[in-house]
Amino acid sequence: MAKIIRDEDVSLEPLMGKRIAVIGYGSQGRAQALNLRDSGLDVVVGVRRGGPSWGRAREDGMEVYEIPEAVRQADVVMMLLPDMVQPRVWEEQVRPNLRPGTVLDFAHGFTVHYGLIRPPVDVDVVMVAPKGPGRLVREEFLRGRGVPALVAVWQDATGRAWDTVLALAKGIGATRAGVIRTTFREETETDLIGEQTVLVGGLMELITKGFEVLVELGYQPEVAYFEVLNEAKLIMDLIWRYGIVGMLERVSVTARYGGLTVGPRVINEDVKKRMFEAAERVRSGEFAEELLEEYKRGMLTLEKLMNSRRSHMIEKVGSEIRRMVFGEGGE
Ligand code: NAD
Ligand code: MG
Repeated sequence: MAKIIRDEDVSLEPLMGKRIAVIGYGSQGRAQALNLRDSGLDVVVGVRRGGPSWGRAREDGMEVYEIPEAVRQADVVMMLLPDMVQPRVWEEQVRPNLRPGTVLDFAHGFTVHYGLIRPPVDVDVVMVAPKGPGRLVREEFLRGRGVPALVAVWQDATGRAWDTVLALAKGIGATRAGVIRTTFREETETDLIGEQTVLVGGLMELITKGFEVLVELGYQPEVAYFEVLNEAKLIMDLIWRYGIVGMLERVSVTARYGGLTVGPRVINEDVKKRMFEAAERVRSGEFAEELLEEYKRGMLTLEKLMNSRRSHMIEKVGSEIRRMVFGEGGE
């Protein structure tokens, strides 16, 4: 079984007296920068002057520089920009300013694994990939907990890369929840396969199709929304806390019997076969290529798909219900 590395196993010492430059101040950038600072480390932020992140970081009391200057000062450079943006910023602003012996850190293996960024041989290349959204990385830290993370070393130029990456994971709060060693390849492929087939793509589609079935059968959309979307969270909380069998033990006998007999007929071997097909497109690099093409064309397909989702009935019903539940502007 993979060893789970905990807070008490790791020291912040490798980062003491080091300057960490967090490049990008979005979802992960802001969360990680604040957590590292609250862990007592020396953090600066590198973003575009005048961009929205510049003001946000200043408001948070961060020392803010343009990206080339932040990189020049840094012993550790954290690439927390969107994956599609990273290659260009890397070529133009990061690589020319990197010193030998610097630690280059990523939150996802995508750009390195698919060869979009080719780091020089004299830097450490590491990854701390939180297994949760950036916002939660910050919120959990403030609650004295953490979001679990995967750590990896792609290149160990200094001989100290493992100690450094674990220290980063500790500084972010991830070791409080548990950290597992992986490789850039395993993290990248499992992350993409997981988000496409289960987390983002799978869940979204399962809930939407379930909603459509109830509405097309003539039931009230509000009832359908509570049933397949709202309650999905409550069931997921049980699975998260107690496991699948633990969830089954906590729902009614009726739900347990119905779920066990009907579930495998709906999500059947055909679905699994298509999951394998999606996985193959990730492993062959075909998906990464498609995404890059889409990015070069200005993300038009993405925008079109988002717009069609925005006009789906589940969104209209959902925004009414969420207004009721969370209050005005409560999103
Ligand atoms: P984001 O979109 O939230 O943040 C983007 C940041 O990059 C912002 O500060 C933005 O101003 C800046 N930026 C955007 N375009 C830029 C440009 N052209 N030049 C300079 N700066 C630019 O990104 P994110 O979701 O935090 O993702 C960062 C990394 O973290 C990615 O590798 C991603 O895969 C990984 N990751 C994200 C999450 C998550 O919860 N979002 C979870 C795990 C891993
Ligand atoms: Mg992902």
